[in-house]
Amino acid sequence: MDAPNHGFATRAIHHGYEPSEALGSLSPPLFLTSTFCFETAEEGGRRFAGEAPGFIYSRLGNPTTAILEQRLASLEGGEAAVATASGMGAIASALWTLLRPGDELLTDLTLYGCTFALFRHGLAEFGITVRHVDMTDLEAVAQAMSERTRVVYFETPANPNMRLVDIAAVTALAHGRSAKVVVDNTYATPYLQRPIELGADLVVQSATKYLGGHGDIIAGAVIGRSDLIERIQSSGVKDMTGAVLSPFDAMLLIRGLKTLELRVERHSESAMEIAKRLEAHPAIAAVAYPGLASFPQHELANRQMLMGRFGGVIAFELKGGKDSALPFMNSLRLIRRAVSLGDAETLIQHPASMTHSTYTPEERAAHGISEGLVRLSVGLEHAEDIWADLLAALSVATSAS
Ligand SMILES: *Cc1c(COP(=O)(O)O)cnc(C)c1O
Repeated sequence: MDAPNHGFATRAIHHGYEPSEALGSLSPPLFLTSTFCFETAEEGGRRFAGEAPGFIYSRLGNPTTAILEQRLASLEGGEAAVATASGMGAIASALWTLLRPGDELLTDLTLYGCTFALFRHGLAEFGITVRHVDMTDLEAVAQAMSERTRVVYFETPANPNMRLVDIAAVTALAHGRSAKVVVDNTYATPYLQRPIELGADLVVQSATKYLGGHGDIIAGAVIGRSDLIERIQSSGVKDMTGAVLSPFDAMLLIRGLKTLELRVERHSESAMEIAKRLEAHPAIAAVAYPGLASFPQHELANRQMLMGRFGGVIAFELKGGKDSALPFMNSLRLIRRAVSLGDAETLIQHPASMTHSTYTPEERAAHGISEGLVRLSVGLEHAEDIWADLLAALSVATSAS
């Protein structure tokens, strides 16, 4: 069922699948197979030559994964999608496809730790120049672009400090230089932000987070125009990374997507309330949450993020910095100390020593990631229970310091 006019939740549940084509099965069948049999040798040859339709081998395509890909494309407002084994698989497959030695990748200051490591220690070793610029400063972005800039890449909100980038404005600058724009839309999800509708060429997702939503898979996706996705699938995924998603995990993602809208609504509602209460607490030095009036880019958040919602992640600092943050984290009883985000369980982590330990301390300082920052992914538990846990741990941390 392909109905582009249907609402977000309807497409998240139905798009790309017609039960009558699968013996009436309500849930899409799981094709747990590595390979597909050809009627004749000639038929196999025609499929390889692209002259006959049909599946060949699950690294090149799988019917369960294909339903997921159509659904993700519809939700992000793109023509096509390719599912990958992880968010890093999505990012690496897209960039290995778009970049050549001698090209320049222009990126924001703040990036998820492993993305930063891929750029600094992966791409840079293969002759690609990676330049970081503060993308909240459009003047600086315009200055930093050169004729060698092939790709402009950023996250918004950025992991871990929640900084936003103006997607439409940066895209206009990049397209003026014929550079492609790749946006990591993991934090916002397509329910709250659709970069492709604002001009971006590609969206990458760590589907491990909100899209899966249940903390049981590692997965990713790239979404965009058909010709680009075709190249990323047949060159990046097939030839370079091999980072193909398992059909089993595709099935779990199809299941997760059905409740994406409901979950993101609740994550956002609870996070907004908790961000306000944290901000008012005497032990807290600063809270970064795009929904707060005090957030420096609150106006951009209102303009760029949809549904009047701002997602489930909050970054904050305690007055005692790291020396208070770690005892505070250790005093939590309900909230889990774990990296990742977007799960039903509320998770907390310390970026400087965990997700962003891929940066040196000097790099963290230069890239706006402070040593005392704590990242909270607000889960789907009863919000008052989450708050009670935070409040109790804050009082322990305050009395100890
Ligand atoms: C987690 C994350 C990634 C990496 O995704 P994996 O699925 O862990 O490979 C990329 N970008 C952002 C913003 C993330 O939070």
